[in-house]
Amino acid sequence: MLGKIAVEEHFIVPGFSAGASMPPGEPELAQRMADLSDLRLREMEDSGVARSVLSLTSPGVQGERDAGAAVAAAERANDLLAEAIGRHPDRFAGFAAVALQDPGAAARELERCVSVHGFVGAMVNGYTGPEDGERATYHEDPRFDPFWAKAAELGVPVYLHPREALLSQRLAYEGFPEIVRAAWGFGVETGTHAIRLILGGVFDRHPTLQLMLGHLGETLPFAVWRLDHRVSMRPHGRALQRSVTEYLRENVHVTTSGNFSTRALQATIAELGAERVLFAADYPYESMREAAEWFDAAPLDDQERAAIGRDNALRLLGLAT
Ligand code: ZN
Repeated sequence: MLGKIAVEEHFIVPGFSAGASMPPGEPELAQRMADLSDLRLREMEDSGVARSVLSLTSPGVQGERDAGAAVAAAERANDLLAEAIGRHPDRFAGFAAVALQDPGAAARELERCVSVHGFVGAMVNGYTGPEDGERATYHEDPRFDPFWAKAAELGVPVYLHPREALLSQRLAYEGFPEIVRAAWGFGVETGTHAIRLILGGVFDRHPTLQLMLGHLGETLPFAVWRLDHRVSMRPHGRALQRSVTEYLRENVHVTTSGNFSTRALQATIAELGAERVLFAADYPYESMREAAEWFDAAPLDDQERAAIGRDNALRLLGLAT
């Protein structure tokens, strides 16, 4: 399929670290991550991807200990991204980095990025704060409501992207370093965070807010029946307006980033509907070409392929054709 839009594609700028996600000794990965020009554009061209929606790679500003430093870092990364988009406005779009260490500042930065830079939403790389847990916070806490309210008001989605679990939560992976990150841990960490947002009432307080999840929904489409079943049996005093399934179908979009399984895609479509699934590669951690070749050959009808490959992104992100 030509003209695809890929929505979870990462970059890095000097002064930020991709941490353990981008280990030293992988110069080609580092080169692709830093490139916002010819190399990336060529790989998009070779894969039938017309536009990449770019985001600062994890953990971005989320790991900053100091709120003032986080706010300044987000602004700097967003301005650099805006420059790159300005050089290729028909090929790139952007998600804002936001410093939730200061929710009011994060709301103002999102508004600035949307109104001044034309960004199409925000990306949040997991919990806020350093991974040692000092002052780390998940985002269902009402003190983050100014940010969620601003995203809802602007009508732009917030992409909740993985980061490594808090150090205090890694005992379960001891002796199994290969599953701490993308192979397994990212899904558990980010899926849990999304459940906290739902059960914590974020979508009751902001009913039009749209959340995006990568990797075919971080396992939620496959777990949601049991979630609803058991939470309704034992709600622990929590009163929600809707079932978790309904929040997923009304407030969440998921993407194909880094999960190129046809059977998982079909299950996700069955649970959420094709109108809630968007194409993404997770470049450069994943191969743009592999993502595209898988998606182009997946057994979808023409309408589903157009929706997932392009039309849902145009609608959700307000992109011009
Ligand atoms: Zn990613």
